[in-house]
Amino acid sequence: MIGTTIILLIYLAIFIGIPVLIGVYVYRDAKDRGMNAALWTLIAMCAPALIGFIVYLIVRGSYSDMKCPQCKTAVTEHYISCPNCGTKLKATCSNCFTPVEAGWNVCPKCASPLQEHYDDVSAPIRKKDKTLGKILLAVILIPVLLIVVMVLSLSTFSATSGGTGVTSLPIDEYLQEVNQPQIEEWLDNSGENYDHAYALRHESTSGEQVMVQYLVYMPRLVENPQISIGTSSGLFGRTLRLDVADSKGDGGNTLMLITCTGDSAPKLKLYYDGTRVDSEITDVEYSLNLAATMVKIQE
Ligand SMILES: [Zn+2]
Ligand SMILES: [Zn+2]
Repeated sequence: MIGTTIILLIYLAIFIGIPVLIGVYVYRDAKDRGMNAALWTLIAMCAPALIGFIVYLIVRGSYSDMKCPQCKTAVTEHYISCPNCGTKLKATCSNCFTPVEAGWNVCPKCASPLQEHYDDVSAPIRKKDKTLGKILLAVILIPVLLIVVMVLSLSTFSATSGGTGVTSLPIDEYLQEVNQPQIEEWLDNSGENYDHAYALRHESTSGEQVMVQYLVYMPRLVENPQISIGTSSGLFGRTLRLDVADSKGDGGNTLMLITCTGDSAPKLKLYYDGTRVDSEITDVEYSLNLAATMVKIQE
């Protein structure tokens, strides 16, 4: 089953892929900040439901993510000079050496006037963290993907639990063989509306299996139209989708007989060249099958 394989892959992604992704990220990030990389990696990967990762993200805030622009030594925002290479990281008052910010006019400690520019100062560089966003996106997207795949494979399962067949046949031939005056009457009353379809529906059960027959009349259908059929299961039950494609003929002489078995009766939706067609569906008590068709199936 393709569906099962996909679900297995996504489980692997969730229970192995995401923790490994987080582990690699935490290890590198913790090492850069001078934290205990091995310990934090273990905590982030092993604590359930990402709790370790969340705790790591909170705790790391008190560790510096800034570096000296010259020698890449880790520095904090309180450092005036790099402890390794001596690069000046912050401007200071020329009188009392208190650290000052760019744009200040007067020293807040000794009230000496300050320079407008400090050319010898190179501010520490802050590590850009684009990876965190990607990891959080993966943590959100992968479970969402899992749900979508599960819903999709669910409908594949249901569609294969029953059977669906469709036969298109000339009206005259069908009426002759089925010999049911009520069907003839229904056809006469169905009209010639081009944006309408008409269908008779007969449902029967045998054991746990439900069998539904639809006899579909689309007034603008040519002989031997291209028909594709598909079933799907959603929140609102099974749906049978019949798609008819042809080059806008006005034959009006073809019927389609759909037979569908399964554990529930599907609703019918008709499409003409990809557009949904309004359909009038009438429930009937009599079988719509052709005796000849039945014999052919049984052989
Ligand atoms: Zn340095
Ligand atoms: Zn000062």
